[in-house]
Amino acid sequence: MADPIRAADVVVVGGGSSGCVVAARLSEDPGRSVLLLESGPGYRSALDCPVLDYRTLPVGPGSAFTETYGVELAPSVPSTMVRGRVLGGSGAVNGAYFVRGTEADFRHWPASWSYENVLPAFRALERDADFDDDRHGTTGPMPVRRQPVEQLSEISAAFRAAALGAGHPEEPDKNGTGVGGIGPVPLNVDGGRRVSTAAAYLLPASGRPNLTVETNSDVVRILFSGNETVGVAVEAGGVRRTVRAGRVVLAAGPVETPVLLMLSGIGPEEHLRSNDIPVVLDLPGVGTEFSDHPEVALPYRIRDSLRRSDTSPVVETVLNVGDLEIRPYTAPFDVLVPGSGQPDPILGIGLMVADSRGDIRLTSSHRQDRPRIEYRYAQSASDRRALREGQAIGLELLHSPDLRPLLVPLSEDVSDRSVLAHLGTSLHLCGSCRMGESGDAAAVVDARCNVRGVEGLTIADTSVFPVVPSRGPHATAVMVAERVSTFLRE
Ligand SMILES: Cc1cc2nc3c(=O)[nH]c(=O)nc-3n(C[C@H](O)[C@H](O)[C@H](O)COP(=O)(O)OP(=O)(O)OC[C@H]3O[C@@H](n4cnc5c(N)ncnc54)[C@H](O)[C@@H]3O)c2cc1C
Repeated sequence: MADPIRAADVVVVGGGSSGCVVAARLSEDPGRSVLLLESGPGYRSALDCPVLDYRTLPVGPGSAFTETYGVELAPSVPSTMVRGRVLGGSGAVNGAYFVRGTEADFRHWPASWSYENVLPAFRALERDADFDDDRHGTTGPMPVRRQPVEQLSEISAAFRAAALGAGHPEEPDKNGTGVGGIGPVPLNVDGGRRVSTAAAYLLPASGRPNLTVETNSDVVRILFSGNETVGVAVEAGGVRRTVRAGRVVLAAGPVETPVLLMLSGIGPEEHLRSNDIPVVLDLPGVGTEFSDHPEVALPYRIRDSLRRSDTSPVVETVLNVGDLEIRPYTAPFDVLVPGSGQPDPILGIGLMVADSRGDIRLTSSHRQDRPRIEYRYAQSASDRRALREGQAIGLELLHSPDLRPLLVPLSEDVSDRSVLAHLGTSLHLCGSCRMGESGDAAAVVDARCNVRGVEGLTIADTSVFPVVPSRGPHATAVMVAERVSTFLRE
């Protein structure tokens, strides 16, 4: 019998935060066949989902749901970085913080992505339990709710009181105008579950005869005939096969999307040649100048035990001050990420608008070899100054009358040395295949997210963001996938 999955109108590569949205939306048209290929494991129902509990992140050592990369955060600061590798992608294993990019963020996007233009998609994707007005949606697939003040964990409640006591304004809706201040985090959580786009979009569509989802299926190459995309090569269970497609939508995330493009011959020409990869198209922006949020940890020791309720998410309230976001995580990382070996709780100091830009480069032409990922954090004087300012604000809060009785800071050092010693990343990597207007030579995709210079190839994931938003990227990733799906249906 012929293999029924040898061809599809559209192949979506990667069933992560964005890919699940695209596969579900495009298969709404019964006349279009859609094949979603996901390299990680899957599940048949939301209740089957192995990564439900939003109070922890299943990304520690040995996790079956992640891919781990060695990275360099700054010269001589090596680290590791994880991405989700499971149906739902990084959104299935993340902190469930679901905050939109701000109005100011979209001024750095092409004009057709102004806040005014993206707001309808943000409203359409969400089902907000707390706000019902012309900025919010109440009927979309993604549930959004905030932790009521009276249910905050002891550390979040004390942090909130400390921030208000220090004169920071209250920001009850982080999906509002983005003015900043202390406020509850919008969470994509429902009934004790972290709701990924796999649960919200894909599973309800899984009965459609024109939608096929194949998990444990790793796409190893995009296939071209001249400058036309004709399909992909995929490996599953040790067998490689070819799938023909009228259109390929890359949604493999901001690391694997550029890696796959480069392995397939699209990227900076010199770099491809030095790895013995035949060049299909010279696109210098592939894998180049990505952005993310450097995050410095302020560790502290608790004096006694701290109350964290059964419903406490990973982070439930944050303080946005200028370009900084200060996050009181509700438990030590050893609890939040079982197996992480970090027993002390921390205040996270995220720099949400940073100068640093990183690169992703191949180390060979083989799919199994890990790429080289360099962040170049804290290299500009202004990034270092901002992170030091964040340390100072964080320490002031830790020493406030509200927090001081509960804890003892483990480091009082505000310096470049301590910035580097406590440097991490928020895991918000974006912009490794940026979109741009026609005159932008570094742009990989146009403003409709089609790869420039080839036919039939679209990118719909956080790779295409011109720059990481000044909030976590998950809600914006869903919005981008919604809009790209609309473009492809026009
Ligand atoms: C641990 C962690 C915590 C985070 N916390 C938050 C948070 O609380 N809030 C927030 O806003 N952001 C958070 N983020 C970031 C956010 O989750 C991501 O930015 C977002 O999910 C990225 O969406 P994406 O569609 O670009 O990629 P992903 O969701 O990563 O999806 C990519 C998918 O493609 C698959 N894939 C890759 N290569 C291939 C291939 N060759 N063939 C087939 N499939 C492939 C992967 O397995 C994966 O499922 C977090 C990220 C991590 C890792």
